[in-house]
Amino acid sequence: MTGASQTDSSTPEFSFPHLDAEALSALSPETLAVAAGRPERDHDSPVNPSVVFSSTFVGLGAVGEGARGYARYSNPTWEPFEEAVARLEGTDVPALLFSSGMGAVAAALSLVPVGGVLVAPAHSYSGTLGLAQSKGERGELELRSVDIADTDAVIAALDGADLLWVESPTNPMMEVADLPALVAAARAAGALVVVDNTFSTPLGQRPLAVGADVVVHSATKYLAGHSDVLLGLAVTDDDELRALLLAHRTLHGAIAGPMEAWLGLRGLRTLALRVERSQATAGELARRLEGHPAVRRTRYPGLVSDPGHARAAAQFDGFGSIISLELDDAAAADAFVASLALWLPATSLGGVESTIERRRRHTAEPLTVPEGLVRLSVGIENVEDLWADLAQGLDALL
Ligand SMILES: *Cc1c(COP(=O)(O)O)cnc(C)c1O
Repeated sequence: MTGASQTDSSTPEFSFPHLDAEALSALSPETLAVAAGRPERDHDSPVNPSVVFSSTFVGLGAVGEGARGYARYSNPTWEPFEEAVARLEGTDVPALLFSSGMGAVAAALSLVPVGGVLVAPAHSYSGTLGLAQSKGERGELELRSVDIADTDAVIAALDGADLLWVESPTNPMMEVADLPALVAAARAAGALVVVDNTFSTPLGQRPLAVGADVVVHSATKYLAGHSDVLLGLAVTDDDELRALLLAHRTLHGAIAGPMEAWLGLRGLRTLALRVERSQATAGELARRLEGHPAVRRTRYPGLVSDPGHARAAAQFDGFGSIISLELDDAAAADAFVASLALWLPATSLGGVESTIERRRRHTAEPLTVPEGLVRLSVGIENVEDLWADLAQGLDALL
């Protein structure tokens, strides 16, 4: 394993000491989530990577050429997690771990040149929107907001663009983009494509395989999976882009603490089990919710009635574990959330515990998100327990 110091932007190699490239490429994602990022197999060596708490490293030679130097440049505890997530996203180029999803988002947005054009979904994670808007207001870039599900509108906006940002499904409106078509159009326009893959996880879609340039994750959500850490990742299979993202991480300093990095990999080991369960439950709950008279609309790409269903069926392996519901108004939504005993009223998503939130309680949420929209993040609890709680809350609205 090599570290990447401030002066060394070369791309490190993977460390899977006991599996060659051919053996690795044959492994399925659920196996990679468990097998990737393991330490060397020496007699009596630990089976899990250790946590390295050190702000600096002994320096007897030049810093660079793979030397760690200082823990803002590199930390051995990041690398197994970076390796595992890169593998899951289908690349040999190690991912870059950040202190939060927004750390990774900020690094990826820095790929827009000063004065360049960013095309981004009008509905997307509010932190991403806020950062893009503030960069627009400061004149750092020109922001063009689009309906990411409207392929023609996105293609029209790509004229002269430098970077296309994609969330699919979008947070919290659950719109689904035609990613292959958008990647082709962006490429023709000379724009980079960044996909925020937090909602789908690499089990649901692998944007690099479709031609996206960079994938970002809020690993705070499904990858870590237990609502106990904030982490982010940027993944690319392009060495030059990786060097730019690495330089941004090193110089802006949004690095992960070693304990958080260790917890992130610890959570990743069970990703497939968690996603399989929560996604199956979400599909069942979405069908029941759609039939409830207190619900105006259920947004879930797994529903045949959902406008994104055909695209999602073609592009995703599974429809994910997020459902958005539209109730009559803010008061109905607030009353519903407050009536629940099992579902946790909390922001964020992707943990083992089911959480629910009226999104417009955040003043930063776009005004086009309905006041009565509640976003459900389905966890791994029993489906009937989850349904019983929702059903009593919805029945009380009638
Ligand atoms: C939460 C989230 C982010 C931001 O991640 P943090 O870890 O909270 O910084 C970015 N994108 C999406 C889609 C998210 O859900």
